[in-house]
Amino acid sequence: MAEQKGKILVIGGGISGLTTALEAAEVGYEVILVEKNPALGGRVSRFYQYFPKLCPPLCGLEINYKRLKPNSRIQTLTDSEVVSISGNAGSYQVKIKTNPAYVNDKCVSCDKCTDVCPAERDNDYNYGLDKTKAVYLPYKMAWPAKYTIERSICPEGCTKCVEACVYDAIDLQAQETLMEIEVASIVYATGWRPYDAAKIENLGYGKVPNVINNVTMERIASGQGPTKGQILRPSDQKKVESIAFVQCAGSRDENHLPYCSAICCMASLKQAKYVREANPDAKIYIFYIDLRTPGKYEDFASAIQNDENITLVKGKVAKIVEGKGQNAVVQAEDILNGNKVNLEVDMVVLATGMESSLKGSSLPQAVQVDENGFVAPNIQKNGVIGAGTAKFPSDVNSSIQDSTGAALRAIQTVVGS
Ligand SMILES: Cc1cc2nc3c(=O)[nH]c(=O)nc-3n(C[C@H](O)[C@H](O)[C@H](O)COP(=O)(O)OP(=O)(O)OC[C@H]3O[C@@H](n4cnc5c(N)ncnc54)[C@H](O)[C@@H]3O)c2cc1C
Repeated sequence: MAEQKGKILVIGGGISGLTTALEAAEVGYEVILVEKNPALGGRVSRFYQYFPKLCPPLCGLEINYKRLKPNSRIQTLTDSEVVSISGNAGSYQVKIKTNPAYVNDKCVSCDKCTDVCPAERDNDYNYGLDKTKAVYLPYKMAWPAKYTIERSICPEGCTKCVEACVYDAIDLQAQETLMEIEVASIVYATGWRPYDAAKIENLGYGKVPNVINNVTMERIASGQGPTKGQILRPSDQKKVESIAFVQCAGSRDENHLPYCSAICCMASLKQAKYVREANPDAKIYIFYIDLRTPGKYEDFASAIQNDENITLVKGKVAKIVEGKGQNAVVQAEDILNGNKVNLEVDMVVLATGMESSLKGSSLPQAVQVDENGFVAPNIQKNGVIGAGTAKFPSDVNSSIQDSTGAALRAIQTVVGS
């Protein structure tokens, strides 16, 4: 019965979109999954470990990809974006643009093309800390497991990758395509982006060397990251012997993000553990306003708070300035001891919050967002539904639960139409 009904469109192929697509498809509904990037996985594919279990996120993604691959009810479109939506719940007409990846499904990821490619690009997956060739695999274990090409930086007339590819997987003349589909329900699982720390002028991001944000820290800690998991500071690759984490960097602040992102305290505590394990003698300081580690996260927080090398300082950081030898100096007030703090460290991590990836973008009329760009659950009266962090900042567990609920809501629209 389900197969004879309308389709569900899921926009965004992160953990939330994957969950919605799989839950709906596995009970018999047809799903079209649209992801703007060349590979699925979203932000979590770039994390070193998940709190609280400290397991690698790529394992969880791999399980989802194993469910996705054999499921013929899910049509996955990567490098794709929705251009327009018209119609009503039960019958939406949607135009989808797919950008050329220049590499087709015959690719076996043999890497011969990268060996001969002469052009390099900043590696956005590693937040610009290293480079890839113009032809590259988005990340190890990426799905679809095929290379993609940043065509705009290819030297004119270069066809070295085409010549090196014995599988005939590269077509440098591929063109953008446009398709029109009809769906009954639409799920926005478009996720989040890190708040731009350069907007928080007093915290020195982009001005003081070795002040980084928390998402970059995930790549530095990762064994597959730019430093192969060694915790080295970006400016001179010095081993980090002292580090400060600055909580609520831009969050709970009317001038930046007025809300709490719910995960930054846990993310910094987790990252303190990364440093402790990679550089056991490093001194670690966490500046916080109040630690928000609810429910089951309390045990994780207590274990880290009891670590002799980790010092928690309650107080808002006023300023970060440059110190000696590319160090950073954190100026803050320790409100529990009534002291002014001037702490010089090798590196500072700003715990920036999660901003809706829809904020500031022009959206089809069918989708309504709140003042912060999140798809607000209580104002969606039609067949357009939010899922995961497209709706509110949350951890992976809550995102998955919410996305399972979104699958049910989407099915209800399909069935009711
Ligand atoms: C520093 C940090 C560390 C964290 N660590 C943990 C942790 O250890 N454990 C934990 O539980 N949580 C952690 N989180 C929270 C976790 O990142 C989120 O819960 C998770 O990313 C939510 O997944 P999502 O699919 O909703 O969003 P995303 O991961 O952002 O995925 C959204 C997807 O949608 C795509 N997309 C966006 N716009 C469009 C569009 N217009 N068209 C098509 N596709 C689009 C994106 O490319 C992306 O693939 C952390 C967060 C931060 C900031």
